[in-house]
Amino acid sequence: MKIKFYSYGACKEVTGSKHFIEVDDNIIQIDSGMFQGKREESFQKNHNLNFSPNESKAILLTHGHFDHCGALPIMINNGFTGNIYSTSASRDISNIILFDSAYIQEKDFEYIKNKSQQHPERKLKAYEPLYNSAEVVKTMQNFVTVNYHREFFPAEGISATFFDAGHILGSASILLNIKNKLKIGFSGDLGRKNLPIIKDPEKMPDLDYLVLEGTYGNRLHDSIGMAKKEVKEVIKRAYNRNGKIITPAFTIERTQELIYIIHTLLLEKEIPEIQIFVDSPMAVNATSIFKLHSECFDKETYNNFTSNNIDPFGFDSIKYVTSVKESIEINSFKGPAIIISASGMAENGRILHHLKNNIEDPKNIIAIIGYMAEQTLGRKIVEREKEVKIFGKSYKVNAEIATLNAFSGHADYREIKEWVAQYDLKKLKKIFLVHGEEDALNHLKKELLSINVNDVEITEYKTLYDL
Ligand SMILES: [Zn+2]
Repeated sequence: MKIKFYSYGACKEVTGSKHFIEVDDNIIQIDSGMFQGKREESFQKNHNLNFSPNESKAILLTHGHFDHCGALPIMINNGFTGNIYSTSASRDISNIILFDSAYIQEKDFEYIKNKSQQHPERKLKAYEPLYNSAEVVKTMQNFVTVNYHREFFPAEGISATFFDAGHILGSASILLNIKNKLKIGFSGDLGRKNLPIIKDPEKMPDLDYLVLEGTYGNRLHDSIGMAKKEVKEVIKRAYNRNGKIITPAFTIERTQELIYIIHTLLLEKEIPEIQIFVDSPMAVNATSIFKLHSECFDKETYNNFTSNNIDPFGFDSIKYVTSVKESIEINSFKGPAIIISASGMAENGRILHHLKNNIEDPKNIIAIIGYMAEQTLGRKIVEREKEVKIFGKSYKVNAEIATLNAFSGHADYREIKEWVAQYDLKKLKKIFLVHGEEDALNHLKKELLSINVNDVEITEYKTLYDL
């Protein structure tokens, strides 16, 4: 029996996850994520796969984030015909992520094509969409959903089981059992204990090999308990001075966590009644997916909400806004309010209108949750630049800026080490590190060796490893 492991993405970087296990002639692919980053470079990386998707028997999906599922239609377009296995929540999240991506790619292409015709001197390059919505429909037809802990058989001699990864709704670590002789685990993106709504990361059975993510391999987060305290204090401050809180929010998971925490604070009478607007069609869709997946909820969510027939995401003072007309009407709302809107890094979307209308008033608070990439408006706000440009016009940043650091869906290195330490480290022959910048992975490698992991390898792109 020959077993090989290799990766065509998320090697010394955090996007484009595509990992492979080859057992004799059977190839199983884990994740099919899109590369993100600079336009030209990521287009080329997404376009030129360097492998043949039609050789894979099946694709197993760890979760529905774009950098893990975004390239699925590219696999289908390049001849992949097998099953795409995921949990049912991951299937639903992938569905909205992929349609959104197809739409944005088509719009971007049209926009830049028109611009370049108007201004040929700017030499703008429009990139053809990598897939369209019809191809997303075709992709969704290959999905087969399987719940956590239900063993399935993606190829001859290989069984697979999803375990809760505690990262986002539906997220899974994947155990592959090869001919009952060898166990290989994929952590997927690993979450944290005590995140709101979803269950904690689980340990899989003891493993021979582990493919492990290291996004925050060199960082430590504030404890999750802080998140609730931070939200409470920010709301009280805004309420007392009759201000508004504007939050650029990532539409999946962070938005629902924030709503869940606000709802809990309201039930506990820790904060006054305050109007909340969730102003993003995609966040509204994502929230309705959460409502359907009580099987992913943790004990607290079940005890405090589900078992009492209370919707964790619905209460009197929350308004979900989809139409443009209603979105504009929020501007004239008088009194304290919380406006949660997309996009997460404040690069585009309705959040820009809310920022431009509110950023100059010192009564207001811009509450930043999550990671802001360089060059984004979100990053400029976090760095407290005195003036920012929105729709080409300068605005003074007079509003208070609050960064809520406790919200993170990825384990930090201490949490990763604690998770790994639960395994039988004598049996575990080797850990392959993926999904992290090189500095983070180097640091994580040192940390793992310090708890006596036998061998740690930083996975190189396209390199074959014999197991
Ligand atoms: Zn993720």
